[in-house]
Amino acid sequence: MDLITVKEAEDIIQLYVKDYGSEEVPYTMSSGRVLAEHLYADRDLPPFNRATVDGIAIRATAGAVGSKSFTIIGTQAAGEPPIAITTERACVEVMTGAALDPSLDAVIRYEDISVENGIATIKGAIDIKAGMNLHVRGKDKRKGEMVAAAPRLICPALIGLAASIGKTTLTVKKLPRVAIISTGDEMVPPESAPTPFQLRRSNGIVMQSVLQRYMIQADTYHLNDDIGLIRTTLAGLLKDYDVLLLSGGVSMGKFDYVPQALQELGVAKRFHKIRQRPGKPFWFGTHHESVVFAFPGNPVSVFMCLNRYFVPWLERSLKMPQSSGRMAVLGRDIEFKPPLQYFIQVQLETDKEGVIVATPFDSNGSGDFSNLIYANAFMELPLERTQFRKGELFKVWQYKN
Ligand code: AMP
Ligand code: MG
Repeated sequence: MDLITVKEAEDIIQLYVKDYGSEEVPYTMSSGRVLAEHLYADRDLPPFNRATVDGIAIRATAGAVGSKSFTIIGTQAAGEPPIAITTERACVEVMTGAALDPSLDAVIRYEDISVENGIATIKGAIDIKAGMNLHVRGKDKRKGEMVAAAPRLICPALIGLAASIGKTTLTVKKLPRVAIISTGDEMVPPESAPTPFQLRRSNGIVMQSVLQRYMIQADTYHLNDDIGLIRTTLAGLLKDYDVLLLSGGVSMGKFDYVPQALQELGVAKRFHKIRQRPGKPFWFGTHHESVVFAFPGNPVSVFMCLNRYFVPWLERSLKMPQSSGRMAVLGRDIEFKPPLQYFIQVQLETDKEGVIVATPFDSNGSGDFSNLIYANAFMELPLERTQFRKGELFKVWQYKN
């Protein structure tokens, strides 16, 4: 099979966007999940005419026709049953949050009155209007009205809203079960000391950390470059997981067994190799309900492919807004001659005019792992060209703020 383009790869992956259904979780556990049901007001919001200041509640018409003094007939804290007046010369001392009786329709702040011997007198000339300093019943939402539409990422404010309508269990999008499998005889656990010719593994923990942002707790595995071991382990994982994220073993090397093992297991290859740098040997396939993203082992390739291909797939599957893929302005001239779509590491910054400028970290096409912490995005430079000018707009895949 010929190398395909980035766009073709994206379109193929898009075909396998999948809805994993929904489940209920306690609202305390819902932050960062995607709401999968609309939320409705269980009663009017606010549910009563609510005083918004501490002071006295009166009948506005009484104050408006010149009455300045009112007999205090009671004091009402928030949460207490409303006290009614039967004469317009009376008032009720009310605290913020108190529910006003229908006989009262204006609240005068303590700052604007003086109180002596049970009589409250308004100081100075206040323009008294019905509705002043009160939040009218149902002004925010009517009972039964929608307060939050799904799908929607659950944030602290939404959890507060859920609490206010008594919705302590929320229906959220179910998350796929994900297995992360790194490969390579030379890759040792980070806790152990590598021999001079070995390296510490990092791809698994990087992928696991990206998934945690989506509240997915992925399981991690490591396999040596042994075709039998790879085949039997992957056979089991394909049964237990919705998504397999592999790193390494997909290139031309003698010990790159991953594509062979996957195909022997009946995983349908959807593509292998994309006209891009980094990440050219990326292999993608599907098996019944499972999808398999097998990235080349180079850590920059893994990171780029994960953010460029897997993250948009995941966000679409979870019905989340796409977190990346906007345009930015290239900050300096770049030349890139190979016939590959180049993903250059850039630092995105907003300039004084509010324009998002992408400053590249290198220009020779070799991804540097350590730059990933200083860069915050990959800029996708068009395949057809070799010269890219400062000031031109290109797509960026941002992985960090
Ligand atoms: P491969 O794609 O298997 O040929 O791996 C290419 C290179 O990627 C390896 O030689 C390592 O330098 C690096 N690599 C592979 N797997 C990992 C890993 N789990 N963590 C960090 N680097 C890795
Ligand atoms: Mg390898």
